[in-house]
Amino acid sequence: MPSDIHSHTNNAGFFEIRMESIGGLGANLAGKMLAEAGVLKLGFNGSNFSSYGSEKKGSPVKTFVRFAAAETEIRSSSPIEEPHVVAVFHESLLRTQNCIVGLESHGVLIVNTAKSPDDIRVLTGLKSGVVLCVDALQIALEEKSRVNTAMLGALCRIIDFLDPEAVKTVISETLGRKYPTLAAANLRTFDRGFREGSISLYPAETNGDVYEPFVHPIPDLGYDSQALGGAIINPGNSITRDLSASRQGFLPAFSQEACIHCAACDEVCPDMCFVWNAKQDSRGRTFQYLQGIDYQYCKGCLRCIQACPTDALTTIRETDTYATDHRVRHQ
Ligand code: SF4
Ligand code: SF4
Repeated sequence: MPSDIHSHTNNAGFFEIRMESIGGLGANLAGKMLAEAGVLKLGFNGSNFSSYGSEKKGSPVKTFVRFAAAETEIRSSSPIEEPHVVAVFHESLLRTQNCIVGLESHGVLIVNTAKSPDDIRVLTGLKSGVVLCVDALQIALEEKSRVNTAMLGALCRIIDFLDPEAVKTVISETLGRKYPTLAAANLRTFDRGFREGSISLYPAETNGDVYEPFVHPIPDLGYDSQALGGAIINPGNSITRDLSASRQGFLPAFSQEACIHCAACDEVCPDMCFVWNAKQDSRGRTFQYLQGIDYQYCKGCLRCIQACPTDALTTIRETDTYATDHRVRHQ
């Protein structure tokens, strides 16, 4: 990576970063702090904005940061399609969307994950470039902070024209103003994000190409293909709805043995994840029996755990296959 911004900017003179995240992980704030450090502390030109749909915890968010040398004006406010660096704040996003689209062949992919760079390369299909894996969630848990400052640490490790001390100053000023008690924890988180994690380099056969060009998504229905009368021919339904990418690393584990089938969990679950079946008790009376959780619809809010009067529901850190291995499907 360059020590001087000039040596690695694109044809427009920009160095571009795209953060892929979900609402609640702090990518928007991370982008703001990074841009502020670059512009106000380091003297670059810069811009930053985010793109998201409903402002809801768990929904996908993209945050964009552009830097340029002081003499280069940034007149673009378009989304970053061919970034030098992609930072993925939530590993599950790699399964639900093409996070690396547009990344150049020498680009850098940073992922919040406990996996190795080789595993991430296989998961994403990345052909070449640099992969940095940092377990930002574990760091944030241990430091009682958030993943965004660990990801900022990782970004500063890989982008060496960004002075980490400048970013730390902005973190102190920003969090110190709003949440003074959190500033110290987030600075420790930043340092660990900077130091920890593993990096692998996968050499490119070509020089500086974008190996998978960005393709603008084309909606299935447009003004010339919409059914007459605006009829909705594929109505919204919950069968294909997958909320797994909304989980922030945790989900409820269910123990059949400890369950008393009181349905307190079902009453608080916003997504009707609990799967019930009729069963007969020893006296032949029919009752509703909790079979388990349909994890496809679980966004990991963990309300059910607070509601459960027994130890039938417990919080666990999500591992790769837990949800698919333990999913009980709605009939
Ligand atoms: S964590 Fe519990 S309450 Fe929240 S969506 Fe999942 S099953 Fe429902
Ligand atoms: S709240 Fe707990 S005990 Fe009651 S049905 Fe749900 S899992 Fe079972």
